Amino acid sequence: MSNSPQSDPSCLFCKISDGRIPSQRIYADDFCTAFLDINPVNHGHVLIVPRHHHKDITELPSEVASQVAKVLPILAKAVVRATGADGFNVIINNGAVAGQTIFHGHWHIIPRFHDDSVNWPWPHSDYSGDQIHQIAFAIERELRSIQDLS
Ligand code: AMP
Ligand code: ZN
Repeated sequence: MSNSPQSDPSCLFCKISDGRIPSQRIYADDFCTAFLDINPVNHGHVLIVPRHHHKDITELPSEVASQVAKVLPILAKAVVRATGADGFNVIINNGAVAGQTIFHGHWHIIPRFHDDSVNWPWPHSDYSGDQIHQIAFAIERELRSIQDLS
């Protein structure tokens, strides 16, 4: 359960959600809005932003997360059709170390083109010995302590 205020007066995305700062909005419902990123990775780069303030997606109420999960594939389909993209990335940056710069959690839909210059993917590592079982066990234990997912 989140203790976030509904709106943070100093938050850019709260101001955009409230309409106090303009944006190129493409979608809105009771739970979220979607608008064009002002500095797009590729043209048609969309941000999906929950209406209420939550610093990252770990604080989102499940009803908001459910609504975003419902509209995201539809928005992505519209982005792909409108831009003629060959594919798209859905990215969420959580925390400064992960590249988050606006601390009001949000989703990026980034249209991708065969000839674009986006530097992706990032490098992968591997596990040795029992590490993969250890981390799976630790995550499952935390899941059980957080909530019932059923
Ligand atoms: P992140 O780095 O994941 O926190 O993403 C923040 C995104 O917000 C960046 O891609 C910015 O280009 C975008 N952004 C910043 N200011 C605005 C704005 N006024 N309108 C639309 N997008 C913005
Ligand atoms: Zn906010």
